[in-house]
Amino acid sequence: MAGLPHIRDLTLAELEREITAMGLPKYRAAQVADWVHKKGATSFAEMTNLPQEVREKLARAFHQGGLTVWDKKVSRDGSTIKYLLGLADGQAVESVLMQYRYGHSACLSTQVGCRMGCRICASGLEGLVRNLSPGEMLGQIWAMQRDSGRRVRSIVLMGSGEPLDNYEATVKFLELVNARYGLNIGHRHITLSTSGIVPRIYDLMRLRLAITLAVSLHAPNNELRDRLVPVNKAYPLEELLPACSAYAETTGRRVSFEYALIHNVNDTREHAGELARILAGIHCHINLIPVNPVPERGMGRSRPGNVRLFKEILERAGYPVTVRRELGLDINAACGQLRRRVLAGDQNGRNRRGVS
Ligand code: SAH
Ligand code: SF4
Repeated sequence: MAGLPHIRDLTLAELEREITAMGLPKYRAAQVADWVHKKGATSFAEMTNLPQEVREKLARAFHQGGLTVWDKKVSRDGSTIKYLLGLADGQAVESVLMQYRYGHSACLSTQVGCRMGCRICASGLEGLVRNLSPGEMLGQIWAMQRDSGRRVRSIVLMGSGEPLDNYEATVKFLELVNARYGLNIGHRHITLSTSGIVPRIYDLMRLRLAITLAVSLHAPNNELRDRLVPVNKAYPLEELLPACSAYAETTGRRVSFEYALIHNVNDTREHAGELARILAGIHCHINLIPVNPVPERGMGRSRPGNVRLFKEILERAGYPVTVRRELGLDINAACGQLRRRVLAGDQNGRNRRGVS
């Protein structure tokens, strides 16, 4: 079976090529795409408008199957569900379903683990395990929709992994999720978050998709950012910020700068002033995130008073600033945390299905 393509990884055009090469009529590809990408089918057996022999032929040519819910935790107020989803090879990723006023947003993973090694993040603790395929990114949406009965309206690529370190698969996912024959989620409703891989930011910019770029800044100078977000050593602020500016100008979309506030590390008034200076002239929005403590990293969250002051300084400098809603803190919604707990066999992280 190894080496076969997974059916959910293929666009309609690719399905047409593969299916006609098998000697089947082209319209079968549209039927399969409808099942896989519109209805979220996870097996050929479900494709009831295909004759039995066609289904069997497809099953010999392609992998099938979806992601399975290994674990889930529902926040006390019911607005956030965090899933641990199992992949075909026994790996697992985290995905979160969040309820907003205008529908549900899915936070998806793009890799198992991550090799960027940011200090605040649990995803990078074991390094990169592997990339996800486009179909595995889509599969997270389908698994959550199926389990919850809710429909995903918007997407943030902010689960585990660095999407621009898995560039080809991520771009193909953006095509598939937007396709009319599929979920048809508009690019305006998608945010891609990166730690700052500058050449890939320019590549993405050239595609001129209407997606929002979020950049995990976390520090206003190279010295501090080198420590918190090590990829900064390869792509320092003097390269990253012009790339963000170019992205905003080319796409017309405001860049969103993510800044995790860590007690006594990057949350002083001087840091806020420095941040206001370096972002001058960039069409952007700043999102402050009181850091979700990661016990393994020994980092604490900023005091509420410091968060307020930090926000005020930036606002006075003219920036639109939001403080991220503390989504699901009670369910370990920070990246990588549920997966680590479950894999480590920690009972607190091991609430089985439906537990709130
Ligand atoms: N790799 C991408 C996307 C995934 S991380 C990136 O780094 O942007 C999504 C966001 O969560 C990033 O802004 C990341 O820095 C942030 N994050 C990671 N661990 C966190 C924590 N413990 N508390 C708050 N934010 C965290
Ligand atoms: Fe990777 Fe993003 Fe975590 Fe950094 S913050 S280790 S880039 S997932």
